[in-house]
Amino acid sequence: MMISGIDLNQLAADIKVWGRELGFQQVGITDIELGDTEIRLKEWLAKGYHGTMEWLGAHDNKRSRPDDLVPGTVRVISVRMDYLPGDTQQIQTLKDPTKAYISRYTLGRDYHKLIRKRLAALAKKIDDTLPEDYPNKHELLNRAFVDSAPVMERPFAEKAGLGWAGKHTLIINSQAGSWFFLGEIFTFLPLPVDQSEQPNQCGECSACLKICPTDAFPQPYELDARRCISYLTIENKGPIPLEFREPMGNRVFGCDDCQAICPWNKYAQFTQETDFLPRHGLANSDLVDLFNWTEKEYLTNTEGSAIRRIGYEGWLRNLAVGLGNAPSDLRIIEALQQKRENVSDLIKEHIDWALEQQAKPNHRRKRKIKNLNKSSD
Ligand code: SF4
Ligand code: SF4
Repeated sequence: MMISGIDLNQLAADIKVWGRELGFQQVGITDIELGDTEIRLKEWLAKGYHGTMEWLGAHDNKRSRPDDLVPGTVRVISVRMDYLPGDTQQIQTLKDPTKAYISRYTLGRDYHKLIRKRLAALAKKIDDTLPEDYPNKHELLNRAFVDSAPVMERPFAEKAGLGWAGKHTLIINSQAGSWFFLGEIFTFLPLPVDQSEQPNQCGECSACLKICPTDAFPQPYELDARRCISYLTIENKGPIPLEFREPMGNRVFGCDDCQAICPWNKYAQFTQETDFLPRHGLANSDLVDLFNWTEKEYLTNTEGSAIRRIGYEGWLRNLAVGLGNAPSDLRIIEALQQKRENVSDLIKEHIDWALEQQAKPNHRRKRKIKNLNKSSD
């Protein structure tokens, strides 16, 4: 198909090659029709499952209608970048109640900057192929998104052939598992769309639903974010509700259990991006060592990391819960008591809870991790 002297079939093929050269493991192209996604989002919001993430309901219908968000958009270029760092002793860390488990996507540098830069480079390459007088020339450079705009990245990724939405609601690729980031470029070029949508292959499996420590799935394909440890430890700014503290175990920033148990992740590839490799020993540090960081150490050691999002207050809150779930230990009790002197009421309350837990005889954590041996670690 030719338009203004541009061979769109060739351009679509070139975009896939350029994407791979720029470090994306897959690039797909889709139109902007999302079927009943908009209705399903509204139903999910009406149930209140988004908790305090009010922005998910903002922006009218722009989230599911790319041409409302960026007028003139007719295609979405969806990209995948694998992030799982190799050799992080993932399951050993999760199973060791003295260690802090931090979600594998955030052990290194914040992914937003890296992916946005690569998407901008891809947009520039596409833009360079357009004649100077092409309408909207240079606009493409402002249409690259990675969590930076109200974009329904998962439904677009699914439609673009990057995978299917699993029962845990994340996108799974039959050749690459689910440990990846997504990004998008909204384009006004009527590129040929990919017809390679992957069929849903969850079948009878329900491992992710069963393993969830906080029972955050009211039903398959539906997440109650308010019960999810990722939400509770990152988005939630208030206290961690009591009912979730023991199930949290040692997960102090996010949670990966529903991905770690997924059989499709045996096909996951380790990332080649050095930016995503663990920094400051965050892959398997002792809970008490991280809790003992001063605010200055926290700020230094999390510079350029997504962990900065929760601030020192959120960091201490989450770690206090982790320490409350750790086996009774004098070093932990002393660390909790010392920190208690100079913290906010919110942190004090979590420390008091942790001290109570530590004082319980034969204190043991209740956790659902036994089947995680089968995962990718
Ligand atoms: S991330 Fe953890 S808490 Fe959240 S749904 Fe998955 S298993 Fe449950
Ligand atoms: S664990 Fe099973 S049900 Fe859950 S997403 Fe993976 S394949 Fe689907």
